[in-house]
Amino acid sequence: MAAQLPILVVGAGLGGAAAALGLARKGFAVRLIEEAVELGVIGYGIQLGPNVFPMFRELGVEQAVLAKSHFPPDVLMLDALSGERVTRVHTGPAFKQRFGDPYVAIHRVDLHGCLLDACRALPNVEIMPATAFQSVEDKGDHVAMTTADGRVLTGSALIGADGLGSAVRKQLVGEEKTVPIGYVAHRTIVPMAMAPERVRHDDVILWGGPGFHIVQYPLRDKTLFNIVAVFRTENIHQRADEDAYRAILMKTYAGAHPAMHDMLAMMDLKRRWVIADRDPIRHWSCGRVTLLGDAAHPTLQSYAQGACMAIEDAVVLARCIELSKGDFVAAYRRYEQERVLRTARIVLDSRKLWEFYHLGGVARDARNQAEAEKTDDDMYRCVAWIYDGVKLPTEL
Ligand SMILES: Cc1cc2nc3c(=O)[nH]c(=O)nc-3n(C[C@H](O)[C@H](O)[C@H](O)COP(=O)(O)OP(=O)(O)OC[C@H]3O[C@@H](n4cnc5c(N)ncnc54)[C@H](O)[C@@H]3O)c2cc1C
Repeated sequence: MAAQLPILVVGAGLGGAAAALGLARKGFAVRLIEEAVELGVIGYGIQLGPNVFPMFRELGVEQAVLAKSHFPPDVLMLDALSGERVTRVHTGPAFKQRFGDPYVAIHRVDLHGCLLDACRALPNVEIMPATAFQSVEDKGDHVAMTTADGRVLTGSALIGADGLGSAVRKQLVGEEKTVPIGYVAHRTIVPMAMAPERVRHDDVILWGGPGFHIVQYPLRDKTLFNIVAVFRTENIHQRADEDAYRAILMKTYAGAHPAMHDMLAMMDLKRRWVIADRDPIRHWSCGRVTLLGDAAHPTLQSYAQGACMAIEDAVVLARCIELSKGDFVAAYRRYEQERVLRTARIVLDSRKLWEFYHLGGVARDARNQAEAEKTDDDMYRCVAWIYDGVKLPTEL
């Protein structure tokens, strides 16, 4: 029965769209199921490491993504109090030569558009917006998913790509909480023309301070300026109006470099993201159901790799399903083997890097001194385990 049924992919975020595309390119029928009415509307920037470009090649969207990308000459960390440089990774020609692919920043809507347009161009992907996953039953030779409005969709297998608060994960792994770390984020995009001269840079810059940071970079041919302000707060779930949020921001960033205040003045404070991850787990599959991306291994943003990991997952999983010739249990076993340690390391190291970004007092001074001794090659060695990427399996 399963052979005639589509694979159900729950969640049309970056990971789900990549999985649907990867499977469809291999000839599988796919239903891409999304609870939102409109797909791909989260309008902020995203950084992508070189490790994700071989995945884009496999998915057939590399050129489309490159055409929409910004290529920063450097990725810098600056000290938020003094403005001095803490770390620098050159991301120009030497980087591309070392890692084989570039480091880019891209508008999330553009990246999502590349993946969704490629899905729409294939006859074997059915995109189902306004369809929320509620539960799934593994029937042995197929799955039956019930939607929040009571419909039943059958499939050969189900992939939960439904993000940090995954309902598929809740059913597979049980009731366990995300781990909020006491920080929140506000994200903003403004026309570059609005940005004062002294904050306009081609680089990706992270300003790290005690208990707060700001990330800035340009997008879309430098016509847009992306800002993310992240800080520790006692009440992460506080719902307040913009004036109250602004007052908190001003207090938190009181000692920050004047350039950061230029950016804070431009922040749109309507929406907040609570920063959270989960402790890594060894297994996230059961029978014909598995997870990918944030549903499987959500991470802090320290390495800017959450979406990259979701897309790597998607391509590795599609390859394993292809190799398994219909044996989803075997496919998922191999997929987990390929992904568990890499993603666990991202999650755990991201926590350490998060602390590193936010040091204060003498620990901050010691960090700055130690980093000043590092060479460009040292920096490449530090990130090589991520940026050297993954090999796709050739057999199960
Ligand atoms: C401030 C910030 C900055 C970041 N910067 C970067 C970066 O620079 N680089 C990077 O690689 N990563 C970055 N990330 C991480 C990245 O955004 C995530 O890791 C990535 O989006 C995960 O993709 P996903 O497809 O697994 O989940 P999501 O993108 O969360 O997609 C999940 C989808 O599932 C849908 N859904 C949820 N529940 C249901 C349901 N019940 N039924 C149907 N559909 C459902 C949702 O509507 C959504 O469309 C950042 C994150 C944040 C918060």
